[in-house]
Amino acid sequence: MARIKNTKSEFFTFLSFFQITLKLIAMHFQWRKPVLLVLVWAALLAAYPLNSQTLPPPLSLEKLEAAYLIHREPALTHRRFTHAELQPLIQKHAINFSVRELGQSVLGKPISSLTWGMGPTRVMLWSQMHGNESTATMALFDLFNFLEGKGDEWQGLRDLLHAQLQLKFIPMLNPDGADAFKRRNALDIDLNRDAISLISPESYVLKNARDDFEPEFGFNLHDQQIYYNVVNTPKQATISLLAPAYNEATEINDVRGRAMQTIAGMNQLLQELIPGQVGKYDDAFEPRAFGDNMQKWGTSTILIESGGYLGDTEKQEIRKINFMVLLHALHGIATKSYLNYSTDDYFAIPDNGFQLMDLLIEEMQVPMQGKWYPIDIAIRRREVESNKGYYLNGSVEDLGDMQVFFGIETLDASGLKYKEGKVYPTVFESIKDLTEEKALEFLRQGFLAVKVRSGEPRQVHGLPLLVLKSTTSFSGGWTSGAVPNFLLTQGEEVRYAVVNGYLIDLKQPKAQEIRNRIY
Ligand SMILES: [Zn+2]
Repeated sequence: MARIKNTKSEFFTFLSFFQITLKLIAMHFQWRKPVLLVLVWAALLAAYPLNSQTLPPPLSLEKLEAAYLIHREPALTHRRFTHAELQPLIQKHAINFSVRELGQSVLGKPISSLTWGMGPTRVMLWSQMHGNESTATMALFDLFNFLEGKGDEWQGLRDLLHAQLQLKFIPMLNPDGADAFKRRNALDIDLNRDAISLISPESYVLKNARDDFEPEFGFNLHDQQIYYNVVNTPKQATISLLAPAYNEATEINDVRGRAMQTIAGMNQLLQELIPGQVGKYDDAFEPRAFGDNMQKWGTSTILIESGGYLGDTEKQEIRKINFMVLLHALHGIATKSYLNYSTDDYFAIPDNGFQLMDLLIEEMQVPMQGKWYPIDIAIRRREVESNKGYYLNGSVEDLGDMQVFFGIETLDASGLKYKEGKVYPTVFESIKDLTEEKALEFLRQGFLAVKVRSGEPRQVHGLPLLVLKSTTSFSGGWTSGAVPNFLLTQGEEVRYAVVNGYLIDLKQPKAQEIRNRIY
């Protein structure tokens, strides 16, 4: 694999060549030294307008974080916002940005771009091609507020970006998917497999924007599942980065090399911010994907995947990280400081893994044919959309020897025995008659579920208990694919309950956000 050398040395080679040429000319025409000096300096300024004296100081974490806190868009507070909610926010920026409708989604919703800056280097950033991947969209609106600010301590940086870059943003490329908070568009097509055929109008909008604008750099902004980790470590991959390949051989040309250098600079900041929580996404070539094709079409393309961060279910921390790393990257492109990094720095970023589980229960005893077997069980809880928000569905992903996985939460269950739970015999009027205290007491008595007379199936609740309305029984178990509903006993005592994949410590219950539903 070819590696790009540090381009700075090439630049200085070019300069010395230029100096020698000038010297030869000077010798020939008997020019005087001061003239020669002026010429050399003029050449220097022309070739490298941003010498170190005119550069603002490097962006520190503190400065970037302060910029975020002041410019954060207050109208966006969680992951699920609609296309309609974004429209007034886009219009708010129509004075300082050039706002254009690029086209419409399958269901006729406008897709807009916002353009800002007068510089020679064009950068295009697009988000939410997958409707339920909204983290970066929030960060883009924070960035709009930042870019539009005036006369504060960031004015120097803003002026620099404005003079060096022309930025084109396309927030929420898939409005229909976003409104249903699902990955695909209204045609049920994955836009990231539609870069060549352009079946979907949304794909056409993106391709057309690229062809019109011809960006030198592109930022392809996504979210990845929270189960991605930095390979073979328990650390969640909060951010994963990729310079997508432009061919099967995953070769490196100047275009991809620049993306790699930019990513290496971003990684340096991220390692300060979230040490060990940055992964390099797999670079297998996907001939239908946008990132891969953008790279092929000549735009140095950087993929940012926002993953999980402990306790940040609404991804507001990761939104901040997105803002900071995007601003840092734009600064790197505007000052060309990405040239300080090599493709080797990029390859040094550890790979992504897919080894995280929400809950890993180690060595619990399960019964089979009158014998007990110690098994690890690996559980994930996945989001399901409901009319009012979302609930989680627990599932046993795998069991046996689970040492290749890491639990976001882990329980050493050696000595604890599996036990089935029961349904409480008395029917309650509604969920309002239940409290967390009561739920815990039922669990201690071996009851995993209660029945209610009124209530809407799929209604979300936060009780550590199964609530049944349209059914009188529930499924549970420890085998693969089972809904993890069971108890763990220590002697006669029910020590833990596992309810829809949530671990409930019955001795020392901890505060946790539970999203169960009525069945
Ligand atoms: Zn995606």
